[in-house]
Amino acid sequence: MTDFEPPLRLILDGEALASNWKALNAHSGSAQAGAAVKANGYGLGAREVAARLSDAGCRDFFVAHWGEAAAIADIIPPAWISVLNGIQAADIPHIRALGAVPVLNTPDQVAMWNASGGGRCHVMFDSGINRLGIAPEQISQCDLGSMDIDLLLSHLASADEDSAQNEAQHRAFHEQAAASGAKRLSLANSAGIMLGADYHYDLTRPGLSLYGGIARPEMEAFIKPVARLSARLLQVRTQPAGAPIGYNATHVCTSDTTVGTISIGYADGYLRAFSSKGTAHYGSATLPVLGRVSMDLVTLDISAAPELREGDWVDVEYDLPTASALTGLSQYELLTNLGTRFERIWR
Ligand SMILES: *Cc1c(COP(=O)(O)O)cnc(C)c1O
Repeated sequence: MTDFEPPLRLILDGEALASNWKALNAHSGSAQAGAAVKANGYGLGAREVAARLSDAGCRDFFVAHWGEAAAIADIIPPAWISVLNGIQAADIPHIRALGAVPVLNTPDQVAMWNASGGGRCHVMFDSGINRLGIAPEQISQCDLGSMDIDLLLSHLASADEDSAQNEAQHRAFHEQAAASGAKRLSLANSAGIMLGADYHYDLTRPGLSLYGGIARPEMEAFIKPVARLSARLLQVRTQPAGAPIGYNATHVCTSDTTVGTISIGYADGYLRAFSSKGTAHYGSATLPVLGRVSMDLVTLDISAAPELREGDWVDVEYDLPTASALTGLSQYELLTNLGTRFERIWR
């Protein structure tokens, strides 16, 4: 960090994060809830997120890359960290030095792990997402019985929908579960937790809903928003009727309009999908986005808040389900887009 105060802020509610994990843990029934903290904790900051979830009682942390495991291994015991995207031969010495746990995704990875000495590992079974994991017809190629498998995992493709695929994947997973010799079984992501006790097994793996995402409508009742966006007002001017605003003049003022320009843009993850659609707030006043979102700037109609002055802060509306419906971006994209220029402030 430099001495300069960033002109945009991500205000993060640590109590809401902990409360979301505890609620998801409670909804997981007799299973424990873990936490997906990949992609920098879904954009919010992996170290800050992981420390708070560990304090809340979480003991299983999932990242995608080995670099993401290394980045939290000084604050989370490496044995609690699982790396979803598997192993490559060249990484194995570093993996063993780090002590985080690999999720083996292919028969080759299983063979490589065993040949290099084996030890505690997880195995991903592909029950039908057909993306990553050992397929049912490949299981017989893997000598799972002789291995020290902590978790047998699988991942649901359509848990956010009432799809017949959920039960089909559940059945495929169940058939492999007993024979795998794994100590623990894990199937459900955030949405999967709401599919009922059959889907919980020993460990659930929520990500999105920890961070305030509503993976299924039933979650609205207990998931709290975690992130708020706030941006500094850089300039205020009154524009007459007929004045074009921003790139390509996609908005033209229809009457005298007080226009305010704030310090956020698509480089911060506030994508052009919000152009002439997004809003900001100042107290109870709603401030619509006018015209195109630029790389570093957004223009607002601030007529509803005549008390606003250059240098003031406004809240940028970023309620995840609402913003997703407005823009067509998924709640996952909305979170993981959030860039590096925000000052991330935990409250
Ligand atoms: C990302 C991920 C999760 C978390 O999913 P959410 O939908 O964010 O709850 C769980 N398991 C695996 C394998 C993942 O890749």
